[in-house]
Amino acid sequence: MTQENNDLDSLLNRMRTVSSPIRGTLTEIHTSLKGMSHGRVADYIPELASADPNWFGIAITGVDGNTVEVGDSAQPFSIQSASKPFVYGLALDSHGRDHVLSKVNVEPSGEAFNSIVLDQSTNRPFNPLVNSGAIATTDLIPGASHVDRIKNLLSKLEQYVGRTLHVDNATFISERSTGHRNRAIAHLMLNFGMIEDRVEETLELYFQQCAVLVNCKDLSVMAATLANGGVNPVTGVRAIQSEYLKDLLSIMLACGMYDYAGQWGYLVGLPAKSSVSGAVLAVVPGKFGIAVYSPPLDERGNSVRGVATCRALSERFGLHVLDAHFVGSSLDNEFRPSRG
Ligand code: GLU
Repeated sequence: MTQENNDLDSLLNRMRTVSSPIRGTLTEIHTSLKGMSHGRVADYIPELASADPNWFGIAITGVDGNTVEVGDSAQPFSIQSASKPFVYGLALDSHGRDHVLSKVNVEPSGEAFNSIVLDQSTNRPFNPLVNSGAIATTDLIPGASHVDRIKNLLSKLEQYVGRTLHVDNATFISERSTGHRNRAIAHLMLNFGMIEDRVEETLELYFQQCAVLVNCKDLSVMAATLANGGVNPVTGVRAIQSEYLKDLLSIMLACGMYDYAGQWGYLVGLPAKSSVSGAVLAVVPGKFGIAVYSPPLDERGNSVRGVATCRALSERFGLHVLDAHFVGSSLDNEFRPSRG
């Protein structure tokens, strides 16, 4: 066993105790990063612009369901793009991989998240974590009416979070009245037959999805659900079929951090998603979920303190998923059939 693995195991053990030293570790990281003063709070709608740049919360939830939180971890904010992997999961659960793949590709785009651009040969959005792909997966939310579809969306997110969620109406209205690019993207996709002819309804659902109120602890439970094979570790409720977990995690690793995805994969190495509201959630498969909330964003649109916190945790505890520590095994053991 390597030093990092030992550190990680003792970190998990420490999370289980009430006077947990992991709180000390998180407090230390929080204290060392809270003075970071660069970055800008998103200001395209008043509900985001009014966020306090000093807000900074960190939460970690283990696959045993315990959470340790420091700072402003209970501060509510709109989930924005952090919803996108979970809506992709809902589309996969509802329609299966082949159908979803026919509507949304799984390639990093190399373009801004809100680009009005589709894959030229197939007219598909590049991936489900850019706006075009997220509008396409929103189109796949099942239900006979708008009301059914928003209920299905909220109850899916609630399975991950383990509590009742609400759409913040002011944020929804602001998203809707400023969402001209998203409207253009949706109409382009309608033109190519990538989404159904109910564009306004699907856009409303997309704007509502962005406006769901969560806090840092909620996001850490959502991430922990992905870390725990798709079962919410607090409630025991399965939120996604296990066969689709790797679809979510691989797309989060490749595309979850806007135009920083390559460096994120290199430096932090965790499946993750960030949002314009200043959230970052990251998954340590089989171990725990991490969430950070701090509104100031860097030039790539990621929370400055969110990225710094995840880097610090990944480096300190050797969390990079490709940081393979060879422990010695026989080839026969390595080539046993997968559990599916
Ligand atoms: N509501 C935002 C949009 O659709 C989401 C942006 C984000 O968090 O990336 O533009």
